[in-house]
Amino acid sequence: MTRQTLIAGNWKMNLNHLEAIALVQKLSFALPEKYFSKVEVAVLPPFTDIRSVQTLVDGDKLSIKYGAQDVSVHESGAYTGEIAAPMLAKLGCSYVTVGHSERREHHGETDELVNKKVRQVLKNDMSPIVCVGEDLEVRESGGHVEHCTTQLIDGLKGLKADQVRNVVIAYEPVWAIGTGKVATADDAQEVCGALRQALNDKYGKEIADEARVLYGGSVKSSNIGELVGQADIDGALVGGASLNADEFAKLSAMA
Ligand code: PEP
Repeated sequence: MTRQTLIAGNWKMNLNHLEAIALVQKLSFALPEKYFSKVEVAVLPPFTDIRSVQTLVDGDKLSIKYGAQDVSVHESGAYTGEIAAPMLAKLGCSYVTVGHSERREHHGETDELVNKKVRQVLKNDMSPIVCVGEDLEVRESGGHVEHCTTQLIDGLKGLKADQVRNVVIAYEPVWAIGTGKVATADDAQEVCGALRQALNDKYGKEIADEARVLYGGSVKSSNIGELVGQADIDGALVGGASLNADEFAKLSAMA
């Protein structure tokens, strides 16, 4: 089974819409068109940049995909400040990150909430990038595999197997995000392999073979090769390094 590699850049709360256009333009010059048959590249800008990115991607017929970093659990209505999945779908988003550790930590997002968001994203024909990962304390206690597989299975609760094929999973050990500490390729493979096995146990081999599992946490051009060389790692969710077009293009080209 060949799964297309996905490199997704999580810009977090960085870059205004003009800077977003400049970065995507630079990225498109740095990545030749032929390259996209092998690897899918996506950017996940702040909400305020998405319309500008859409205009550029559509206007220049770029192969770069884009998406959002979060979504409301509600479809529409009196939820001041929230952004609904149908709005993101209308903007041409392919992906929505759900359950990033920064949202779990700073906004108290639970697996139950993640599950509601995943459903909204799928219902609107986009792919959720469901983030799971353990903090240092859990890693040091040896409970990381169980912690991550529980987050995954609870986040996908109630979905039909056919829906799970459109879910992307990102294993992001919290202790490796923005810290410069990368999990070793073996550590990352251990958890990514266990996540695929959990999908296999719950939804069957076909779905487990098809779903993409990414690694995230201080990924750069210097470590991407070894990470995607692992059997169960199908790409990366990239934070800091995605804010530099040259570095992001370089690491995408090496994936
Ligand atoms: C992230 O925020 O998803 C991430 C992986 O960040 P960084 O690459 O900066 O560690």
